[in-house]
Order: sequence, then structure tokens, then C-alpha cells
Amino acid sequence: MSRSPGRRPERLPAFSYRAVSRGLFRRSTESILCCDRIPLPRLAEHFGTPLYVYSASMIRERVRGFERAFRSADHTVCYSVKANSSLGILRLLAAMGAGFDVVSGGELERVLQVSSRAARKVVFSGVGKTPDEIEAALRAGILLFNVESESELSALAGCAARLKRVARLALRVNPDVPAKTHPYISTGLHQHKFGIPLVEARSLYARASGSKHLKIRGVSVHIGSQITDVEPFRLAMERVAELVNQLRADGHRIDYVDAGGGLGIDYEPTEVTDFEEYVADYADALLRPLRGLKVHLLLEPGRLLVGPAGALVTRVLYRKTNDGKKFAVVDAAMNDLLRPALYDAYHEIAAVQLLDAADSTETIDVVGPVCETGDFFARDRKLPATREGDLLAILDAGAYGMSLASNYNTRPRPAEVLVDGKSAKLVRRRESVADLLRPEN
Ligand SMILES: *Cc1c(COP(=O)(O)O)cnc(C)c1O
Repeated sequence: MSRSPGRRPERLPAFSYRAVSRGLFRRSTESILCCDRIPLPRLAEHFGTPLYVYSASMIRERVRGFERAFRSADHTVCYSVKANSSLGILRLLAAMGAGFDVVSGGELERVLQVSSRAARKVVFSGVGKTPDEIEAALRAGILLFNVESESELSALAGCAARLKRVARLALRVNPDVPAKTHPYISTGLHQHKFGIPLVEARSLYARASGSKHLKIRGVSVHIGSQITDVEPFRLAMERVAELVNQLRADGHRIDYVDAGGGLGIDYEPTEVTDFEEYVADYADALLRPLRGLKVHLLLEPGRLLVGPAGALVTRVLYRKTNDGKKFAVVDAAMNDLLRPALYDAYHEIAAVQLLDAADSTETIDVVGPVCETGDFFARDRKLPATREGDLLAILDAGAYGMSLASNYNTRPRPAEVLVDGKSAKLVRRRESVADLLRPEN
């Protein structure tokens, strides 16, 4: 499939162009980028910019495709809330029967808000759970604590004893598997802060089994994020399977293997991956090493499910040229979408309105208004010529977009709209400056 920069006519079904006729004799046509059936200019008009727009139908489709890949195995998808914690999206996923992977008390509270019954499918990960967070999770009756250190194990036992409850747990082991991804989101090497080294795991399981307030239930791993090669997952799972056998021989009850998340998406327009094939390869990499073990598999995908289903719609405020270099200054900034500044990440940018007649392109930097050189969305990018006032869509912004947004430069965070076919729902209103100032006196 060939694609020209900034144009993605094949981008179905979440964001795709629709042709509209214009002019007195309807001779000229214009292509308008839509989310499902709704033209983005209409949403921008109604809700303002910058604006996060998500496609509910695409999220559902990806969840179903992911579930299909694992249909031969006993499993639960625990969506990783930190990828996009919008209540509207959590509600959609809860309605599909998903469980959730949370990394803070705040994320747990979000899950409980959308469904009190979902608590039974919640796993709690993270290296720094506070006593308050542990207590809230125990009271909610979550499925599993993924414990990451000996000190945390003691804290969990103490908390459970005080509340006269029993904590179900897995130890998150560090399989020491290198994964080709950005160093900030690689987590499965021994030099990273995550997990317990494999060689120490057995003695820690033995220690956990000594507390009547702790119930060992599984083994957990998570090797990183935005990993598009399935081999590291296979390698990690082989090491986990070996550990499961050892632990069972030691007399522990291992019902669950939590494989974590981390399967990546295509941000670059040149790479084309068939989703069904891709998740089938991933499923094979995880399931083959576990064959015969009779465990319930927990999966924690985040980015994979929601990333391509979201776009950040922004308006060109100004054009400027410095020494021959062209800039489009847009109304979105690094506080709204941090990935380019934080990880030097690539996001495809699409013109929302394309005039078929005017086919000219230009090479330009797309930058935000924040006072940092790192505040850019694209550098030296070939895009259809844009004018001031035009709309651009920064694609694949559904994951680690709004959830990483901040109020830097005292910028209110964008609104979020969830589109479903022909309907659009505002799931989070735009912040006001008054919202930002309220906690200060
Ligand atoms: C971040 C994270 C995930 C989700 O990662 P994705 O790359 O979004 O799939 C899953 N599990 C844990 C423990 C995480 O920290």
C-alpha cells in the first residue's frame, strides 16, 4: 500500500477521508478527515481546539481482535489504565467485560467509579504502592497485587493483617530480557527498577507463603512498552514457565500468569501491519511456552487497544519563516501531547481538509506555543500546504496522550470527545483557567 505524506486514505475505520463536493457547480471536491462518520471540522467547531477525539468503534474492534487471538486460552484482558484513563473509555471497556491494570490509588478509584463489579478483575502494579493505596485495593477486593519488592511484601502483609483481610498476590519478576524500545519505556532488564530478579524469586515466594494474610496466586512480568517484535515476549514467557514449574514443585499455588502489556503499534506510516496477524503472532509467543501449565493468563494491553483510536485535533495559529525554515505554530502543545518531547516520538500528522486541486506540499516544523524548544510535533515534515486557521490531526494519540497531559505554562487541558458511529459525546470538558487556580489560595 502506498501513502503520500499527510494523506492516509486507507486509514479505516477510525480516521478516514470523505469526499464532499463544493462550489457553485459542485465541480471541485474536498476531502474531509472524519472520525467514524463525523467530520472533524464539525467537532472542532463545536468543542474547540485542541481536542482529543476517540473512536469507540475502533477501540471495540481492537479489543475483539485481541480477544479472538487468545480465544484458545483461559484468559482475562486487564486494560492498562495509564494508557488512557478517561472515564468514558474505561466505561466502554468495562461494558465489554474487561478487567483493569492500575498503578495508583487514583486509577483504582477511576475503575470503581465506572463499575464497582470490575474490582474483581483489577490487578495492581507498580514499585511504590503507598499504605493508603494498598488499603483501598484490599477493601475493594481486587484480584491480584503484583508485588515488586521484599519491603512491599511486608507492607502488604502488615496492611492485610490490620484490615483482617487476605491479599492475593503475584510477584513481578524481572526476566532480564532486552526489548528493542525507547530506553525510558524498557523495563525488563536487571538494571531497571522493576520487578524481582528471577534468582531471588523463589526465596521471596517462600517468605510470602509464611504469612496467613498473603495468598500466593501467580507470577507476573512486564518487559516494557512499544515493543513490536514478539520474540522478547516469547523469551520472557519461557523464563516464567520455568519458574512456574519450580514454584509448583516448591508447593506454591500458581493459578495465574500475568504477561503484562507492551505490544506496540505502528506510528510510522510506512509500516503496515495486519492487526489480526500481528496479535496472533503475539498470542503464539505467549501461549506456546505456557502450553500444558493450565494457568489463567492475565494480559495488560494499553497502547495497542487505544493508541490508533485517538487523534489530537489542533488549529494552525500562525505561520512563520526563520531563515528560510518554515514553522506552523499550532494551538496544541507539549503539555497536551508529551510524547514527541519526552521520547522524541513520531506522530503522523494529517491535514483535516484536503483540496484535491491544490496538491502542493511543503516541508515544515509543526510546533506548539510553549516556551521550550522541545515543544514540537514534527520536524522537517512534508505536509500538504497549510494556511493559518487550518485544522491538523495528530494521529495515534489515543494512548499516553491525555493521560500524560499537564498544565505546564498554566494551559488548561483539552476536552475529550468519544465518537461512536454518527454520535459524539463530550466525555471530558475542557479545563478552564479557574479550574487550575482553584487549589491555590
Ligand atoms: C504501562 C504498563 C502496561 C501497559 O503497557 P502498554 O505498552 O500500553 O501496553 C501494562 N502493565 C504494566 C505493569 C505497565 O506498567
